[in-house]
Amino acid sequence: MAVSLDIAQKAAYPAATSAALASTVTTPVQDEKPSLIGLNREELGNALAAAGVPARQIRMRVNQLWHWLYVRGISDFSKMSNVSKDLRSKLEFAFTIARPEIVTEQISVDGTRKWLFRFPSRGAGKPVEIETVYIPEEDRGTLCISSQVGCTLTCTFCHTGTQKMVRNLTAEEILGQLMLAKDRLNDFPDADAPEGSLGASTSNRRRITNIVMMGMGEPLYNFGNVKKALLIASDGDGLSLSKRRITLSTSGVTPEIVRTGDEIGCMLAISLHAVNDELRNTLVPINKKYNLETLLQACRDYPGLSNAKRITFEYVMLKDVNDSLEDAKQLVQLLKGIPAKINLLPFNPWPGSPYECSDWEQIEEFADVVNRAGYASPIRTPRGRDIFAACGQLKSASERLRKSEREALEKAGSPAIL
Ligand code: SAH
Ligand code: SF4
Repeated sequence: MAVSLDIAQKAAYPAATSAALASTVTTPVQDEKPSLIGLNREELGNALAAAGVPARQIRMRVNQLWHWLYVRGISDFSKMSNVSKDLRSKLEFAFTIARPEIVTEQISVDGTRKWLFRFPSRGAGKPVEIETVYIPEEDRGTLCISSQVGCTLTCTFCHTGTQKMVRNLTAEEILGQLMLAKDRLNDFPDADAPEGSLGASTSNRRRITNIVMMGMGEPLYNFGNVKKALLIASDGDGLSLSKRRITLSTSGVTPEIVRTGDEIGCMLAISLHAVNDELRNTLVPINKKYNLETLLQACRDYPGLSNAKRITFEYVMLKDVNDSLEDAKQLVQLLKGIPAKINLLPFNPWPGSPYECSDWEQIEEFADVVNRAGYASPIRTPRGRDIFAACGQLKSASERLRKSEREALEKAGSPAIL
């Protein structure tokens, strides 16, 4: 679906008006020094102490750095104009605040952007490649962030599930996706403006208004790092994203669900996809460990749940598998009493996927049943299919598509440009 860009966007994305494109952007390859990105305030204080900052100055310096890193988005110590030259060079010597490398940036005909970022190893193992997707809409801009490289789970409709798990992402790598996307979208105030003044883009509309933990991986199997990154992203003196605009999606790691509400306080999405255990055991195999009853009880217990703070249930529409009107009725029954939104996701095909997307009329009839029961049930328009950026299509380019896979995909109606 083509989306026209407004004038402000056109200026920032001169290339986005044409067909999907792939470009290679080069940024300096980073060294292996520890990064300050992704440290919480206490850890940042410890890092400063290690660099020789006297104890009585730590709090003030932490606040200064926090502002430079997360409000102004600078990636170069030399721009910290209110920090002494001496301290800047000590910091430069011991740490880095550089961004990851951008391997590719692709822009879909519908304005969706997909990046492949490469993070250095920081002395541990190999560098990792991570996909991040930006979806601009009329009233918002959503960044879809990955939490793992690959996934240990094997949901049968999900492309990421076919990629073997490489490792959990660190808090730096999770947050780094947001920082670099903001750089590319010109979503930080001008770092060169004097401190305290309004930077160039603060008066403009924010480009990234929402984030969703819906990229590669199961965020609740990487709870500690995801929590750390999301708390930094929502810090009011920094990146300042409202927790109401941060959604974490889980396939159903039940023991971590209530903790998510208590310790992160973000919005929750559940990848439901089936209304009985038998089918869910096949589609979302974690259901064998935590069945529907256990999962829905954890949802009922989600802290702060109300009609104003609902859980989103994701339901992928698979032809002749889970898309009957009987399924729709059971779905409504199942969610009774839970403040819920239902998101119907047309299945996005990938090479070798064993399913087909439900017919459009079937999806609409299914949505009608759900609507009549009083649930808003938007059918999520697939975005960025042409650059293979839609839900469930991510798989890092460490496993790029082979020619045969690409041809299969084109046959299925999604020309991949990789
Ligand atoms: N692991 C987490 C978050 C990542 S998946 C989870 O499973 O919730 C993000 C969403 O995309 C999930 O709702 C997932 O079920 C859905 N999804 C996966 N593969 C898909 C596909 N091929 N088509 C449409 N949606 C898909
Ligand atoms: Fe992993 Fe989520 Fe894909 Fe399942 S749907 S394989 S949990 S990324």
